[in-house]
Parts: sequence; C-alpha cells; structure tokens
Amino acid sequence: MTSIPKHGRSSAELLSELEQRKTHDTKWREGRVFSLVYHVPGTAGEEHEKLMQRAHALYASTNLLNPMAFGSLKQLESDIIEMTGRLFHCAGAVGTVTSGGTESILCAVAAYRDRARRTKPWIRSPELIVPQTVHPAFDKAAHYFGIKLIKVAVGADFRVDVRAVAAKINRNTIGLVGSAPQYPHGVIDPIAELGELAQKKKIPLHVDACVGGFVLPWIERLGRRLPLWDFRVPGVTSISADLHKFGYAAKGASVLIWRSIDAMRHQIFVATDFPGGLYASPTLLGTRPGGPIAAAWAALSSFGEDGYIALAKTAIDAADRLRLGIEAIPGLSLIGKGDATIVTYGTTESVEAAADTSLIPSLMRKVRGTGGEEIYAIADRMEARGWTIDRQQKPASIHLTVTANHASVVDEYLRDLAMSVAEVRQDPSLAKSGTAPMYGMAAKMPLRGFVASQVRKVMAEMYSKGAPS
Ligand SMILES: *Cc1c(COP(=O)(O)O)cnc(C)c1O
Repeated sequence: MTSIPKHGRSSAELLSELEQRKTHDTKWREGRVFSLVYHVPGTAGEEHEKLMQRAHALYASTNLLNPMAFGSLKQLESDIIEMTGRLFHCAGAVGTVTSGGTESILCAVAAYRDRARRTKPWIRSPELIVPQTVHPAFDKAAHYFGIKLIKVAVGADFRVDVRAVAAKINRNTIGLVGSAPQYPHGVIDPIAELGELAQKKKIPLHVDACVGGFVLPWIERLGRRLPLWDFRVPGVTSISADLHKFGYAAKGASVLIWRSIDAMRHQIFVATDFPGGLYASPTLLGTRPGGPIAAAWAALSSFGEDGYIALAKTAIDAADRLRLGIEAIPGLSLIGKGDATIVTYGTTESVEAAADTSLIPSLMRKVRGTGGEEIYAIADRMEARGWTIDRQQKPASIHLTVTANHASVVDEYLRDLAMSVAEVRQDPSLAKSGTAPMYGMAAKMPLRGFVASQVRKVMAEMYSKGAPS
C-alpha cells in the first residue's frame, strides 16, 4: 500500500526511480511498438525530443482556461490553427487545440448536436451517420451526448458506401462523418462524394483526419495521387487532426478546425450563473495545459515543410517495404490498399473471406472471425520476439501505423514475421494456446454485450484495490 510520504523525497532520488520504473515498458524508441508512439529516429530525434521537453516545460504551469491571462499561449494556439488551416487549404479556418483526437471528436459531435438544436428544433433523437470503420471516439461521443450513431457498411475496398449513407439521411440527421484515412485499414473514405451529398442535403460533414492530417499533405507533396479529403472539398465543415501523431508533437495535442466561425460557434460552452464568475470554454477540458500547445507549436515550426516531407518519405518507404515483404510471405495477405502509412494484414484465408461479399450484404458480418486464431497466434509469436502488436477483428488482422522511426526495423520485423508464421504453420496447437483463443473467441462471439461485460471486468480488475501492478 502506498500513501503520500510523510516527509518529501529528493528530486534526484525520484527522477532516478522514475527512470528505473519505466525500464520494462515497451521499447518505443527502438521501433518495437506501433500506433502508440510517434518518434523521430536518429540524432535528429534526440534533438527533437529535447525541444519538445523544453518547450513543454516553459509552459508547463500555464493555463488556457483564461486566454486573457495567457495571451502568448492563445497566440500559440492561433498560430497552430492558422498553419493547419493553410495546410488543409483554408486560409480563413478557425478552431481550437485540444488534448487529443478523442477530445477533438467529442467537441465536434457536441457542437453538431447543439447546432441542430438551434437549426432543427424538432429533432428529439439526433442521429450522426458514420462509416462502420470510424474510430470508437465517435461511439464514445454518441454515448456521452445521447446521440444515435448510424453505422454504414463499407465496400470491398473498406471505403464507406456513399449510396448507403444517402439512404440513412432523414429529419433527425445532425451530420455526416468520413475518415482520412480510417484507422483499421488506412484507406480514405470517398470524402468528395460525401461532401457533395452533404451540400445537397444541407447537413455538415466532419472529416476525421486524426491519423492522416499531418501526413497525407506531405505524401501528396511527394507526388502520390490521393483522393481529396480536406477543405478543398466544399462540403467539409470541420476536420480533426492529431499533432501528437504524425505532427510528431509531445502527447496531448490535436486540432479541431472549422471552415468558418459560424460553424464553430456551437462549440463554445458558456455558464453564466456560477458564483465563481462567468465561465466560457470551447473544449471539454476546463484547465487547458499550455505545455502540449507550446510543444506542438515548436514541432510545426522546427520541422517546417521540408522536415515533414522528409519524415513522410521515410515512413512511406518503410510502409512500402513492409507491404512487399508481407506479401512475399506465403499464407499472408494485405488488407486494404492503404492510402497512408498504415499497413494491415491477415492470413490469406481470412482476407479472401473478407473480399467475398457476395453472400451477405454486410462485409463486416460475413468475415466475423474467419481464420482469426491463426493470425492471433502469429501475433503471440511476434510478441514473444519483443514486438508490441495491434490485433484487429472483422477481419482478424494485424495493424501497423508506420512512422519514420520504423524504417530501421523493417528487415527485422519481416524476418521475425516469417519465423512466426512458420512456427504457427508447423504447430497448429499454438492457435489454441496463449492469447490467441481469447482474441479469436472475442472476435467471433455474436453476443457483443457479453464481450463488453467481460472486457469491463478485466479493466475493473486492473483498477481494483490491491491488484498486482
Ligand atoms: C488516433 C485516432 C483517433 C483518436 O485519437 P486519440 O488521440 O487517441 O484520442 C481518432 N480517429 C482516428 C482515425 C485515429 O487514428
């Protein structure tokens, strides 16, 4: 049992304890983890880390809750929004920096609900139409704010079916969502078509570019053809984009950016009766830490276009090499033709089942669990070799968000993967041991409520008193 020490301990002792405590965490600097950490490789990376720490520290005690008190912090936020607006081809864009993608999305959904309350007062049960592949932050937003999330199936290319979206629009619709790209398979939804539909029906369109916002523009600059997804699409009203992902900023920074202040207005919450004073806040957080904002501003300014283009080139080359290498391993197949630096693969069997949409209209239903245990067993073998693996379902697959830091581990990853596949092929009992059966079962189980209660139980255990750390 730990309590606050009676007498304070020295900084030196504490810092060395912290160093010690983190030694068994995942090896993110060595590129052994995907999607959780975005690290810049080499000595440039060391310099960049120092810059992030110093910029963060300079503003660590500041608070954007009152922009009048911290004018310089408000200016840093405005600079970030202006830079991002131009990057997304809308010089007059407005917006806020938030603590992360989830906060950006929660704020956007709350704003669209409140906008509808003003403009469509008849709506009792607001509905937001999203692709089935949309990030769970939208489920969370719908859950928190009492909104019905209408999920629309994706096609064989994993992009949302725009005709199916159109069919779901009704009097209760408060907005549409598309992703650029969606996280599971790394493909960009047909934003231009969604934008046209949104304009025709006079409803707003949010683009979730949390993972793509700070890498797609550079990939485009490198000469790759990408579908349009930003403010060049006239129907797009807002975009979420994470600075703490491909912006390579310190954790805790994302932007929610709007085409105009008219659209953004509904994001601003005001309380007038608090004895503590008038209270206005545009984001979920009350106290808004200045550290991540200062660090994000420093990241954008220190890399510049050149720096980001070079990082994007390194990442996309690494992703290409991974795709080639994975396709060369018998029994494995890529899932989705990623528009960004996301690589997803499964066993050929499960991928082919996923591609066969002829029997049941919903692709996601069709592929539930096929071949799952085998890829999950491969994931187990990879983890035994020191990798932290992201497992996916529907279809069962392994996911890699490839950053510049992964360029140096491509060969090692492919070698380990080939060995892991061979092991599982040679010894099918591996699919019945380790975590594979659990993931396989959870993916296949038709009773999603039961899965939720089991996962909640595991999580609650982690948070229970006396649980082993
Ligand atoms: C990461 C991500 C989010 C959520 O961002 P957090 O920073 O983890 O809250 C939302 N959408 C997509 C597509 C993402 O990749």
